Formats: sequence, C-alpha cells, structure tokens
Amino acid sequence: MEVPPPGEAEGVLEVEACGVCGSDWAVYGGKTGGRLFPLILGHEVVGRLGTLGAGAAEEWGVATGDRVVVQEFIPCFRCSVCRRGSYALCASTDFVRNPTALRYGFTPVSVAPSIWGGYSEMMHLHARSLVHRIDESVPAAEATLFVPISNGVRWVTKDGAVGLGQRVLVLGPGQHGLGCVVAAHHAGAGAVVAVGTAQDEARLEVACALGADHGVVADTGAFVQSIQSATGIDDFDLVLDVTGDPSAVGYAFELAAPGGRVVLAGFKEQAVTGPPSDTIVRKELTVIGVRGRDPDSVSVALDLIGSRRFPFELMCTHEYDLNGVDEALRVVGRQLEPQAIHVTVRPEGIGK
Ligand SMILES: [Zn+2]
Ligand SMILES: [Zn+2]
Repeated sequence: MEVPPPGEAEGVLEVEACGVCGSDWAVYGGKTGGRLFPLILGHEVVGRLGTLGAGAAEEWGVATGDRVVVQEFIPCFRCSVCRRGSYALCASTDFVRNPTALRYGFTPVSVAPSIWGGYSEMMHLHARSLVHRIDESVPAAEATLFVPISNGVRWVTKDGAVGLGQRVLVLGPGQHGLGCVVAAHHAGAGAVVAVGTAQDEARLEVACALGADHGVVADTGAFVQSIQSATGIDDFDLVLDVTGDPSAVGYAFELAAPGGRVVLAGFKEQAVTGPPSDTIVRKELTVIGVRGRDPDSVSVALDLIGSRRFPFELMCTHEYDLNGVDEALRVVGRQLEPQAIHVTVRPEGIGK
C-alpha cells in the first residue's frame, strides 16, 4: 500500500508497538462501534516519526527520527472541554457521540488516508495530534503502557483527589486497574488494595509488586466482607471501579467511606441497576465518571515509566506481530490465556 506524503501540518508514524485495549475487543467482538468497520484498530501507539510536514515538526516540537507516543484523541483544541484538557470528550474526537469524529484506532478506512490505527506498520498523523517524545531506553511494550498509567494518574490523583495516607480500593486488576495502583502508591496513599476474581490471581500478584498492600480475590458470595476480612479495612476514602462487571458498581458504593469518592471507569455496555441514591446521600459521596486523561497525566506517566522505579515489565505478558492481531484481541477479551495482563502488537516483528 502506498502511503501518501503528509501535508504541511501532518506526519507519518512508523509504528514500533501498539498496546491492546479492552475497548478494541469490544469493537472487534461486535459489542460496540460496528458502524466503524472496516477500520484499523489500535490506539496505544509508540513509534518513530517518519516524514513530517514542516508545520507539524514546529507545532509538536519534534523531528523526523524522534521516538514518540501518540494519544488516540484528535481534538479541536478550541471547544470548552478541550480548554479544560478533557480531550476525550471533544466532539471532534468522540466517536460515541459523533459519527464523523476522528480518533486513532476508531476511524474507518473510508476516511483518507485510511491508516488511522496502530495495528499497522505506518500510521497517519493528523495536524491536531497529541504527540509526546519518549526516551529511547524504554522497552517498546512498556512504552505503550503510557495509556493505562496516565489514565490511572488522572483518575486517582485528579478525579480521585487522593491524599497522603488515604485508603484506596481498586476493583479490577486489568491494565487500567494496575495503572491506578501505581498512581495511588506514587501519590502516597496509606493503603492500596486491588481486588479481582479467581481468574485474576496472577494480576493481583503483579498489583502487589507495583505497590498494592493487598491483592484480594473477592468471594462473589460475600464480596464486601471478603475484602474487609482480608485487609482489616472496613471502608475506603477512594474506590475506583475499573471492571466491566455491572455488579461492581454497587460494591464500590458500599465500600466507600463517609465523605469518600467513587470513580467509575469501566464501561459495562449493559444496564446497571442503581445508582444507590440513599447511600450516596447518607455518606455524602462524590461520584465521578472518567474516560480518559489530560496531557499533564501523560507527562507524569512517561516520567514514571522512564524512571524504572516500578517493575512495569511484569505487566507486559504477551507480544504478537501483525499476523497475530486476532489472537492478541482474543487474549484481551479473555477468550485465551486468561492470566495475560498487557498485550502488545509489534508491527516490526517480535523481539525487535
Ligand atoms: Zn483504550
Ligand atoms: Zn474540542
């Protein structure tokens, strides 16, 4: 396939690696986004800048050959949500609200120049891209963790407003839950508890290596009590629901302390009963829905990843080349290899 030369304000990325997100599986498995087909999925992208328009190089402060990560958002930078840094919500890039939105990994190939996803050797860089340089020393798979780590940083420290010594509960030890564990530990939480199901034992071990004080396999018959008895903690200043499980929402409210915060991050893609209005009122809970990150959180995440202070390599369990994208997606959908955590696609080939 011929890659057209980029315009003055655009560029081309030579993709080194792309992390696989649960939302990729939701689209691939047909739960959501069917109208986007055919498309190139993949939106946790790290690569090297190829051909660059002069305007793009100046605007992004980069040069051809630089190693960068690219956020999936292609926002307008002018609307009210953009001015707050909430690019995920900008109509220009929110494909849930706007059928003609542009977003890496969620834009049909019918939109020129077609190469809008990270499971590809080359990706087009639109003039309104969010490009961040990343150190050469960071292994490619770990570099793609900038998405879950930066989301965790924003959800825990900004949306969750965690304070020193506070008790933090993370429901769901997938890559985003682990990002929340890292952020809570880094922010000085007094106790960090990660909770999963019987399928999650390996993930919970990694959670503890990343700074969780407890990794708990919750008893589905006595969910709240099993967490309380395993940790000796009755309730939490901050509870994050990072699961796809509708039943987790009610437990999140139950386990929140009076005056606490509940951050809802996991899409359920189905009806959830509630909200438990009286519980929210009685405890004066603050409830926040979160979907993405701001550029500051990406900078913090890239610093954390580059610092090597956390064993992020433990999260990077599976790599596939472009021929293995189907399997990579099934692994993230937990159809295969249920112990997998972070899965990476390597268009240049594995081990490079
Ligand atoms: Zn994603
Ligand atoms: Zn905007």
